[in-house]
Amino acid sequence: MSENIEKIKCLIIGSGPAGYTAAIYAARADMNPVMYTGLQMGGQLTTTTEVDNFPGYANGTDGPAMMEDLKNQAERFGTEVRFGMVTDVNLSSVIGGIHNITVDGSKKIQANTVIISTGATAKYLGLESEQRLIGGGVSACATCDGFFYKGQDVVVIGAGDTAAEEATYLANICNNVSILVRKDYMRASKAMQHRVNKTENIHVLYNTELDEVLGDKVVEGVRVVNNISGVKHEIPVTGLFIAIGHKPNTELFKDVLDMDDTGYLITRGKSTKTNLPGVFAAGDVQDKEYRQAVTAAGTGCMAALDAERYLGTIA
Ligand code: NDP
Repeated sequence: MSENIEKIKCLIIGSGPAGYTAAIYAARADMNPVMYTGLQMGGQLTTTTEVDNFPGYANGTDGPAMMEDLKNQAERFGTEVRFGMVTDVNLSSVIGGIHNITVDGSKKIQANTVIISTGATAKYLGLESEQRLIGGGVSACATCDGFFYKGQDVVVIGAGDTAAEEATYLANICNNVSILVRKDYMRASKAMQHRVNKTENIHVLYNTELDEVLGDKVVEGVRVVNNISGVKHEIPVTGLFIAIGHKPNTELFKDVLDMDDTGYLITRGKSTKTNLPGVFAAGDVQDKEYRQAVTAAGTGCMAALDAERYLGTIA
Protein backbone atom coordinates (compact mmCIF):
# COMPACT_ATOMS: atom_id res chain seq x y z
CA MET A 1 0.00 0.00 0.00
CA SER A 2 2.79 2.44 0.97
CA GLU A 3 4.36 2.18 -2.52
CA ASN A 4 1.33 4.09 -3.89
CA ILE A 5 2.25 7.08 -1.78
CA GLU A 6 4.63 9.52 -3.43
CA LYS A 7 7.18 11.11 -1.10
CA ILE A 8 8.45 14.58 -1.93
CA LYS A 9 10.48 17.28 -0.23
CA CYS A 10 8.48 20.26 -1.32
CA LEU A 11 4.91 20.52 -2.52
CA ILE A 12 3.68 23.80 -3.97
CA ILE A 13 -0.05 24.32 -4.21
CA GLY A 14 -1.15 26.92 -6.76
CA SER A 15 0.38 28.32 -9.93
CA GLY A 16 0.29 32.11 -9.72
CA PRO A 17 3.37 34.35 -9.48
CA ALA A 18 3.89 33.28 -5.84
CA GLY A 19 3.80 29.55 -6.64
CA TYR A 20 6.07 29.76 -9.69
CA THR A 21 8.59 31.98 -7.93
CA ALA A 22 8.65 29.58 -4.97
CA ALA A 23 9.20 26.78 -7.51
CA ILE A 24 12.12 28.55 -9.20
CA TYR A 25 13.89 29.05 -5.87
CA ALA A 26 13.03 25.60 -4.48
CA ALA A 27 14.19 23.86 -7.65
CA ARG A 28 17.46 25.77 -7.66
CA ALA A 29 17.95 24.70 -4.03
CA ASP A 30 17.64 21.01 -5.05
CA MET A 31 14.33 20.56 -3.26
CA ASN A 32 12.80 18.85 -6.33
CA PRO A 33 9.51 20.73 -5.99
CA VAL A 34 6.27 19.37 -7.32
CA MET A 35 3.58 21.91 -8.12
CA TYR A 36 -0.13 21.27 -8.44
CA THR A 37 -1.56 24.06 -10.53
CA GLY A 38 -5.21 24.10 -9.50
CA LEU A 39 -7.96 24.49 -12.07
CA GLN A 40 -6.97 27.96 -13.22
CA MET A 41 -3.41 27.28 -14.30
CA GLY A 42 -1.46 30.53 -13.99
CA GLY A 43 -3.90 32.05 -11.53
CA GLN A 44 -5.63 35.43 -11.62
CA LEU A 45 -3.16 36.98 -14.04
CA THR A 46 -4.38 34.75 -16.84
CA THR A 47 -7.56 36.88 -16.90
CA THR A 48 -5.56 40.09 -17.44
CA THR A 49 -4.72 41.05 -20.96
CA GLU A 50 -1.83 43.45 -20.49
CA VAL A 51 0.67 43.59 -17.63
CA ASP A 52 2.69 46.79 -17.64
CA ASN A 53 3.81 46.97 -14.03
CA PHE A 54 5.85 43.79 -13.57
CA PRO A 55 9.51 44.82 -13.42
CA GLY A 56 11.63 43.50 -16.24
CA TYR A 57 9.10 43.70 -19.05
CA ALA A 58 10.12 47.06 -20.50
CA ASN A 59 7.40 46.97 -23.12
CA GLY A 60 4.81 45.17 -21.01
CA THR A 61 3.49 41.68 -21.59
CA ASP A 62 0.17 39.95 -21.31
CA GLY A 63 -0.92 37.93 -18.29
CA PRO A 64 -1.03 34.46 -19.91
CA ALA A 65 2.36 35.02 -21.63
CA MET A 66 3.93 36.10 -18.37
CA MET A 67 2.62 33.04 -16.57
CA GLU A 68 3.95 30.81 -19.37
CA ASP A 69 7.37 32.47 -18.95
CA LEU A 70 7.26 31.81 -15.21
CA LYS A 71 6.23 28.20 -15.77
CA ASN A 72 9.06 27.64 -18.27
CA GLN A 73 11.53 29.19 -15.87
CA ALA A 74 10.36 26.95 -13.01
CA GLU A 75 10.55 23.88 -15.25
CA ARG A 76 13.99 24.80 -16.53
CA PHE A 77 15.36 24.09 -13.04
CA GLY A 78 13.44 20.86 -12.67
CA THR A 79 10.10 21.76 -11.09
CA GLU A 80 7.48 19.19 -11.92
CA VAL A 81 4.37 21.13 -12.82
CA ARG A 82 1.24 18.98 -12.71
CA PHE A 83 -2.32 19.91 -13.53
CA GLY A 84 -4.49 18.90 -10.59
CA MET A 85 -6.40 20.01 -7.52
CA VAL A 86 -5.39 19.33 -3.97
CA THR A 87 -8.60 18.04 -2.46
CA ASP A 88 -7.62 17.13 1.08
CA VAL A 89 -4.82 17.89 3.52
CA ASN A 90 -3.72 16.28 6.76
CA LEU A 91 -0.96 18.56 7.97
CA SER A 92 1.41 17.56 10.75
CA SER A 93 1.86 19.79 13.78
CA VAL A 94 5.18 18.16 14.72
CA ILE A 95 8.55 19.59 13.70
CA GLY A 96 9.89 17.26 11.01
CA GLY A 97 6.46 15.64 10.65
CA ILE A 98 5.07 14.45 7.34
CA HIS A 99 2.23 16.33 5.65
CA ASN A 100 -0.28 14.07 3.93
CA ILE A 101 -1.92 15.48 0.84
CA THR A 102 -4.58 14.09 -1.46
CA VAL A 103 -4.78 15.24 -5.07
CA ASP A 104 -7.88 14.92 -7.24
CA GLY A 105 -9.58 12.81 -4.59
CA SER A 106 -7.27 9.80 -4.90
CA LYS A 107 -3.56 10.43 -5.39
CA LYS A 108 -1.65 10.39 -2.08
CA ILE A 109 1.45 12.46 -1.44
CA GLN A 110 3.67 12.79 1.63
CA ALA A 111 5.57 16.06 1.75
CA ASN A 112 8.20 17.39 4.12
CA THR A 113 7.26 20.96 3.28
CA VAL A 114 4.19 22.54 1.77
CA ILE A 115 4.04 25.99 0.20
CA ILE A 116 0.50 27.28 -0.10
CA SER A 117 0.02 29.79 -2.91
CA THR A 118 -3.62 29.22 -3.75
CA GLY A 119 -4.35 32.91 -4.19
CA ALA A 120 -7.60 34.74 -3.87
CA THR A 121 -10.54 35.04 -6.19
CA ALA A 122 -12.08 38.39 -7.00
CA LYS A 123 -15.79 38.41 -6.42
CA TYR A 124 -18.01 39.30 -9.36
CA LEU A 125 -21.69 40.12 -9.46
CA GLY A 126 -22.48 37.23 -11.79
CA LEU A 127 -24.40 39.04 -14.53
CA GLU A 128 -24.03 37.39 -17.95
CA SER A 129 -22.96 40.67 -19.58
CA GLU A 130 -20.36 41.24 -16.85
CA GLN A 131 -18.84 37.77 -17.24
CA ARG A 132 -18.78 38.00 -21.04
CA LEU A 133 -16.88 41.30 -20.98
CA ILE A 134 -14.16 40.35 -18.46
CA GLY A 135 -10.97 41.39 -20.26
CA GLY A 136 -13.04 43.58 -22.60
CA GLY A 137 -13.50 46.48 -20.23
CA VAL A 138 -14.62 44.63 -17.10
CA SER A 139 -11.84 44.25 -14.57
CA ALA A 140 -11.39 43.55 -10.88
CA CYS A 141 -8.04 45.32 -10.58
CA ALA A 142 -7.57 49.04 -11.13
CA THR A 143 -3.82 48.92 -10.51
CA CYS A 144 -3.50 46.27 -13.24
CA ASP A 145 -5.82 47.71 -15.86
CA GLY A 146 -6.57 51.34 -14.94
CA PHE A 147 -3.87 52.72 -17.20
CA PHE A 148 -5.75 51.54 -20.30
CA TYR A 149 -8.61 53.92 -19.46
CA LYS A 150 -6.52 57.06 -19.40
CA GLY A 151 -8.73 60.12 -20.01
CA GLN A 152 -11.86 57.97 -20.24
CA ASP A 153 -14.96 57.55 -18.07
CA VAL A 154 -15.23 54.48 -15.83
CA VAL A 155 -17.50 53.00 -13.17
CA VAL A 156 -16.45 51.29 -9.94
CA ILE A 157 -18.84 49.02 -8.03
CA GLY A 158 -18.48 48.52 -4.27
CA ALA A 159 -18.48 50.54 -1.09
CA GLY A 160 -15.57 49.16 0.94
CA ASP A 161 -11.94 50.21 1.21
CA THR A 162 -11.05 48.46 -2.05
CA ALA A 163 -13.71 50.37 -4.00
CA ALA A 164 -12.64 53.65 -2.43
CA GLU A 165 -8.98 52.93 -3.13
CA GLU A 166 -9.61 51.79 -6.71
CA ALA A 167 -11.76 54.87 -7.39
CA THR A 168 -9.11 57.27 -6.06
CA TYR A 169 -6.43 55.48 -8.07
CA LEU A 170 -8.54 55.67 -11.22
CA ALA A 171 -9.43 59.33 -10.61
CA ASN A 172 -5.77 60.21 -11.21
CA ILE A 173 -5.84 58.56 -14.62
CA CYS A 174 -9.40 58.78 -15.88
CA ASN A 175 -11.69 61.63 -16.78
CA ASN A 176 -14.66 60.69 -14.61
CA VAL A 177 -15.17 57.92 -12.06
CA SER A 178 -18.66 56.96 -10.87
CA ILE A 179 -18.96 54.68 -7.85
CA LEU A 180 -22.11 52.58 -7.56
CA VAL A 181 -23.02 52.02 -3.90
CA ARG A 182 -26.00 49.78 -3.24
CA LYS A 183 -26.78 51.21 0.21
CA ASP A 184 -27.14 54.85 1.20
CA TYR A 185 -23.68 54.85 2.78
CA MET A 186 -20.19 53.49 2.14
CA ARG A 187 -18.61 51.04 4.52
CA ALA A 188 -15.06 52.17 3.65
CA SER A 189 -13.04 53.75 6.45
CA LYS A 190 -13.75 57.42 7.14
CA ALA A 191 -10.31 58.41 5.88
CA MET A 192 -10.89 56.64 2.56
CA GLN A 193 -14.36 58.12 2.21
CA HIS A 194 -12.94 61.54 2.86
CA ARG A 195 -10.48 61.07 0.03
CA VAL A 196 -13.28 59.95 -2.27
CA ASN A 197 -15.50 62.88 -1.37
CA LYS A 198 -12.86 65.49 -1.88
CA THR A 199 -11.81 64.16 -5.28
CA GLU A 200 -13.62 66.30 -7.83
CA ASN A 201 -13.91 63.76 -10.64
CA ILE A 202 -15.40 61.00 -8.45
CA HIS A 203 -19.19 60.86 -8.22
CA VAL A 204 -20.81 58.50 -5.74
CA LEU A 205 -24.23 57.18 -6.75
CA TYR A 206 -25.95 55.82 -3.64
CA ASN A 207 -28.75 53.24 -3.67
CA THR A 208 -27.60 52.36 -7.13
CA GLU A 209 -26.95 48.93 -8.59
CA LEU A 210 -25.74 47.58 -11.89
CA ASP A 211 -28.56 46.37 -14.11
CA GLU A 212 -26.60 45.51 -17.26
CA VAL A 213 -23.22 46.04 -18.86
CA LEU A 214 -23.72 47.46 -22.35
CA GLY A 215 -21.58 46.46 -25.31
CA ASP A 216 -21.00 43.45 -27.49
CA LYS A 217 -17.21 42.87 -27.58
CA VAL A 218 -16.13 45.76 -25.34
CA VAL A 219 -17.79 47.82 -22.65
CA GLU A 220 -19.67 50.79 -24.09
CA GLY A 221 -21.66 51.73 -21.02
CA VAL A 222 -23.65 50.50 -18.04
CA ARG A 223 -27.34 50.56 -17.26
CA VAL A 224 -27.91 51.24 -13.58
CA VAL A 225 -31.00 51.11 -11.43
CA ASN A 226 -31.91 53.13 -8.37
CA ASN A 227 -33.01 50.45 -5.91
CA ILE A 228 -35.50 52.77 -4.17
CA SER A 229 -37.25 54.45 -7.10
CA GLY A 230 -36.65 51.64 -9.61
CA VAL A 231 -35.62 54.26 -12.17
CA LYS A 232 -33.00 53.05 -14.65
CA HIS A 233 -30.52 55.11 -16.61
CA GLU A 234 -27.47 54.55 -18.76
CA ILE A 235 -23.96 55.86 -18.19
CA PRO A 236 -21.59 55.77 -21.17
CA VAL A 237 -18.26 54.35 -19.92
CA THR A 238 -15.46 52.23 -21.37
CA GLY A 239 -14.36 50.55 -18.14
CA LEU A 240 -16.13 48.80 -15.30
CA PHE A 241 -14.19 47.91 -12.16
CA ILE A 242 -15.76 45.42 -9.80
CA ALA A 243 -14.50 46.01 -6.24
CA ILE A 244 -16.86 44.00 -4.07
CA GLY A 245 -14.16 42.04 -2.31
CA HIS A 246 -11.91 39.04 -2.74
CA LYS A 247 -12.21 35.58 -1.34
CA PRO A 248 -8.98 33.86 -0.33
CA ASN A 249 -8.84 30.25 -1.51
CA THR A 250 -8.38 28.71 1.92
CA GLU A 251 -11.35 26.36 2.41
CA LEU A 252 -8.97 23.38 2.54
CA PHE A 253 -7.18 24.81 5.55
CA LYS A 254 -10.16 25.83 7.65
CA ASP A 255 -9.70 24.80 11.31
CA VAL A 256 -6.16 23.65 10.42
CA LEU A 257 -4.20 26.84 9.77
CA ASP A 258 -4.56 30.19 11.50
CA MET A 259 -6.64 32.63 9.46
CA ASP A 260 -7.97 36.12 10.04
CA ASP A 261 -11.71 36.71 10.21
CA THR A 262 -11.92 37.05 6.42
CA GLY A 263 -10.14 33.75 5.76
CA TYR A 264 -6.65 35.01 4.82
CA LEU A 265 -3.83 32.83 6.15
CA ILE A 266 -1.79 34.41 8.91
CA THR A 267 1.97 34.26 8.58
CA ARG A 268 4.43 34.87 11.39
CA GLY A 269 6.33 38.14 11.60
CA LYS A 270 8.46 38.89 8.61
CA SER A 271 8.25 35.34 7.25
CA THR A 272 5.93 33.02 5.34
CA LYS A 273 5.64 30.55 8.25
CA THR A 274 2.14 29.46 9.19
CA ASN A 275 1.28 28.05 12.61
CA LEU A 276 2.37 24.57 11.49
CA PRO A 277 6.04 23.61 11.03
CA GLY A 278 7.02 23.04 7.41
CA VAL A 279 3.91 24.77 6.05
CA PHE A 280 4.38 28.15 4.41
CA ALA A 281 2.04 30.62 2.71
CA ALA A 282 2.86 33.03 -0.10
CA GLY A 283 1.00 35.44 -2.36
CA ASP A 284 -2.57 36.70 -2.18
CA VAL A 285 -3.69 33.83 0.06
CA GLN A 286 -1.93 35.66 2.90
CA ASP A 287 -2.11 39.24 1.62
CA LYS A 288 -5.21 41.37 1.34
CA GLU A 289 -3.24 44.58 1.41
CA TYR A 290 -1.01 44.73 -1.68
CA ARG A 291 -2.23 41.93 -3.99
CA GLN A 292 0.28 42.61 -6.77
CA ALA A 293 2.02 40.04 -8.95
CA VAL A 294 5.39 41.39 -7.91
CA THR A 295 4.61 41.27 -4.17
CA ALA A 296 3.24 37.74 -4.60
CA ALA A 297 6.43 36.74 -6.39
CA GLY A 298 8.46 38.27 -3.55
CA THR A 299 6.69 36.21 -0.91
CA GLY A 300 7.02 33.12 -3.13
CA CYS A 301 10.78 33.58 -3.00
CA MET A 302 10.58 34.00 0.79
CA ALA A 303 8.52 30.81 1.15
CA ALA A 304 11.08 28.73 -0.75
CA LEU A 305 13.91 30.16 1.36
CA ASP A 306 11.92 29.52 4.56
CA ALA A 307 11.22 25.94 3.41
CA GLU A 308 14.87 25.34 2.53
CA ARG A 309 15.99 26.56 5.96
CA TYR A 310 13.36 24.43 7.65
CA LEU A 311 14.54 21.33 5.76
CA GLY A 312 18.08 22.17 6.87
CA THR A 313 17.01 22.15 10.52
CA ILE A 314 15.28 18.74 10.34
CA ALA A 315 17.87 16.95 8.20
P1 NDP B 1 -15.43 44.57 1.77
O1 NDP B 1 -15.99 43.24 2.05
O2 NDP B 1 -15.00 45.43 2.90
O3 NDP B 1 -16.48 45.43 0.96
C1 NDP B 1 -17.14 44.91 -0.15
C2 NDP B 1 -18.10 45.98 -0.63
O4 NDP B 1 -18.72 45.49 -1.81
C3 NDP B 1 -19.17 46.33 0.37
O5 NDP B 1 -19.30 47.70 0.46
C4 NDP B 1 -20.42 45.68 -0.22
O6 NDP B 1 -21.59 46.44 -0.07
C5 NDP B 1 -20.10 45.68 -1.69
N1 NDP B 1 -20.82 44.62 -2.35
C6 NDP B 1 -20.77 43.29 -2.09
N2 NDP B 1 -21.56 42.61 -2.93
C7 NDP B 1 -22.13 43.54 -3.72
C8 NDP B 1 -23.07 43.47 -4.77
N3 NDP B 1 -23.55 42.29 -5.18
N4 NDP B 1 -23.45 44.62 -5.37
C9 NDP B 1 -22.96 45.80 -4.96
N5 NDP B 1 -22.08 45.94 -3.97
C10 NDP B 1 -21.67 44.82 -3.36
O7 NDP B 1 -14.25 44.28 0.74
P2 NDP B 1 -12.97 45.15 0.38
O8 NDP B 1 -12.28 44.43 -0.71
O9 NDP B 1 -13.34 46.55 0.15
O10 NDP B 1 -12.09 45.07 1.70
C11 NDP B 1 -11.72 43.81 2.23
C12 NDP B 1 -10.84 44.05 3.46
O11 NDP B 1 -9.58 44.57 3.08
C13 NDP B 1 -11.45 45.06 4.43
O12 NDP B 1 -11.14 44.66 5.74
C14 NDP B 1 -10.73 46.33 4.08
O13 NDP B 1 -10.70 47.25 5.15
C15 NDP B 1 -9.35 45.83 3.71
N6 NDP B 1 -8.68 46.74 2.78
C16 NDP B 1 -7.83 47.66 3.29
C17 NDP B 1 -7.21 48.55 2.47
C18 NDP B 1 -6.29 49.53 3.08
O14 NDP B 1 -6.24 49.63 4.29
N7 NDP B 1 -5.54 50.25 2.29
C19 NDP B 1 -7.41 48.56 1.02
C20 NDP B 1 -8.35 47.56 0.58
C21 NDP B 1 -8.94 46.69 1.44
P3 NDP B 1 -22.36 46.61 1.32
O15 NDP B 1 -21.58 47.61 2.10
O16 NDP B 1 -23.69 47.09 0.87
O17 NDP B 1 -22.40 45.25 1.95
